[in-house]
Amino acid sequence: MKFNPANTIQDLQYFGEFGGVNPSISDSSTYTFLSAKTMFDTFEGNADGCYLYSRHTSPSNLYLGEALAAMEGTETANVSASGMGAITPVLLQLCKSGDHIVSSRTIYGGTYAFLKNFTPRFNIETSFVDITKLDIVEAAITSNTKVLYCESVSNPLLEVADIAGLARIAKKYNLQLVVDNTFSPLSIAPAKLGADIVIHSLTKFINGSSDTVGGVVCGTQEFIDQLRNVNDGASMLLGSTMDSLRAASVLKNLRTLHIRMKQHSHNATYLAQKFEEDGLKTVYPGLASHPSHELFKSMMNDEYGFGGMLTIDVGSIDKANQLMELMQKRNLGYLAVSLGFYKTLFSAPGTSTSSEIPEDEQAAMGLTDGLIRFSVGLDNDIQRTYTIMRECMFELNILKPILV
Ligand SMILES: *Cc1c(COP(=O)(O)O)cnc(C)c1O
Repeated sequence: MKFNPANTIQDLQYFGEFGGVNPSISDSSTYTFLSAKTMFDTFEGNADGCYLYSRHTSPSNLYLGEALAAMEGTETANVSASGMGAITPVLLQLCKSGDHIVSSRTIYGGTYAFLKNFTPRFNIETSFVDITKLDIVEAAITSNTKVLYCESVSNPLLEVADIAGLARIAKKYNLQLVVDNTFSPLSIAPAKLGADIVIHSLTKFINGSSDTVGGVVCGTQEFIDQLRNVNDGASMLLGSTMDSLRAASVLKNLRTLHIRMKQHSHNATYLAQKFEEDGLKTVYPGLASHPSHELFKSMMNDEYGFGGMLTIDVGSIDKANQLMELMQKRNLGYLAVSLGFYKTLFSAPGTSTSSEIPEDEQAAMGLTDGLIRFSVGLDNDIQRTYTIMRECMFELNILKPILV
């Protein structure tokens, strides 16, 4: 049977201490031992099922991690305090001084800044490439390369990575393929396509209520154990641990992810089609005009659609700002970064989430001034939303009156 991530999450049962339908929350930073020997063994990593200290792990964090591992089809997972708190330990665990990373050039601004400005301090260099061109990716690999890094659907340009193709290259050169799947939970399961490590910012669709930051690393038991090792584990030592109370609340939100993703995708598809018909330059992986539409289709779990993210280009930053302000005034969404909320969120990436990327590089990758990124919300009546959006666009002369 086909791997269905929503089913695998749903099939995990956790009961609370008193038969509660939700697992009990472990509201403790430290744990007692009946014998000193067990404490020693736990430190050495030899006492399964024993908890030591909550920066290492806690029952609540393990529940959430298991559910996310079930979603991605990996052996296990480690949750973290934020998406960056997942990404940075992974890269520092896999690379040492002198190593090299090949990364997609269109990635989350924070990840880009980390690879461009921060890891060079430790003599870890990154080549940024067009990830959609496998020959260019392969040509960038050197004898020092350890990691291939990309996002399944990239931020903000919505480029789609050929994960199976990248996995073949990773195998050939003995690299770890690390995929940030934040934009396409449930729709794409990178580990099933050959990725070694899958990362999410839980802050976005997975938690879905814009009330916290959080992250996860999904991978093999061996790698997650390395991250959590008390002696040299980057997650353990850098300390980006999620709080137990928050892990419990993210797990409850995860329960409705499949329903939300369907609605996000439904609404984004509707808007993308209408915007394109109106003559706006629209990018959405669900449109036949998207250069990787067929690739996305070949990788996706159909039920969950092409996701909630789309971009339009309205020509200039001034027009983009005017439109976003007007849409906010009409209560169509909020001028805000982030994504995956019930309400539509929009921002101009060039001056916000991707502002870490220098202007000349933005131009080279096609990140234009007039670009608006939409995280389409859960609107009950997307037709009504579209009608009002179109009025805003007429009012600002972004759309010229169409003959009727
Ligand atoms: C937001 C985001 C991150 C960073 O996650 P935080 O939870 O903000 O630390 C990483 N990757 C992508 C694709 C994101 O959208």
